[in-house]
Amino acid sequence: MGKISILGVNFDAISKTEAVECAMARIREGKKGYVVTPNSEIVYMARSDAQLKRLLNAAALVLPDGIGIVHAAKILKKPLTEKVAGIEFAADLVGELAKEGRSLFLFGAKPGIAEKAAQNLKKQHPGLIITGCRDGYFKNDAEAIHDINAAGHSDVILVCLGAPKQEVFMKAHLDELNGTLLCGLGGSLDVYAGAVERAPDFYVDHGLEWFYRLKKEPWRAKRMTALPKFLLTVMKSKVTGKEDK
Ligand code: UDP
Repeated sequence: MGKISILGVNFDAISKTEAVECAMARIREGKKGYVVTPNSEIVYMARSDAQLKRLLNAAALVLPDGIGIVHAAKILKKPLTEKVAGIEFAADLVGELAKEGRSLFLFGAKPGIAEKAAQNLKKQHPGLIITGCRDGYFKNDAEAIHDINAAGHSDVILVCLGAPKQEVFMKAHLDELNGTLLCGLGGSLDVYAGAVERAPDFYVDHGLEWFYRLKKEPWRAKRMTALPKFLLTVMKSKVTGKEDK
């Protein structure tokens, strides 16, 4: 499986289908690990945060989420198979888990959201076992770990605390958590619960999902300035050959 580096973050150059196959193979083997789906904002952040970069690169799968990463790969002339949106990867993974009667724990988002997401996923995939739900607002990590482990073993734990909180949590507690594969998925539970709409296909297909989100959630404007800064940095790195500056 090929890796390509974008500003020092090593992405897996694989399709969504291959990513799901790889995740399922690990689950069947009981091989513990975590999946990250960094977008340009996180890669830009990791440029000046060595710890964040290390924990992204220590993931079992580093999936290229977002059009910014796809553009960056084009600028750098590094072959990326396709954009793999975390939320779509997880939707397919859940389908495969259901086919094999495997289990899922939903962790993150505001109280009540994970339960709604669980109901919707169970309706879509009757074969799926949901071991439990836990909201993403807790006083200390130990409390959240206790609640997750109280549900018994889960083949997959979705960790939806927003980035980089979820990545830090997964890396720090991988060994303690009673789950095989942890997936950091940002606001996905809100979408599965129907609390937040995903952008219509037109926006997704034309690389304009960020624009749709900006229209719906204008407070994201400041965070989104990371995209042009990120692309400029990628262009500079191509000229200088240095990835970290
Ligand atoms: N969240 C959480 N705990 C926190 C902070 C955030 O569970 O301490 C949840 C929040 O409710 C939302 C998700 O994390 O469901 C973050 O969503 P967002 O779309 O901002 O994440 P992104 O995908 O952009 O990282």
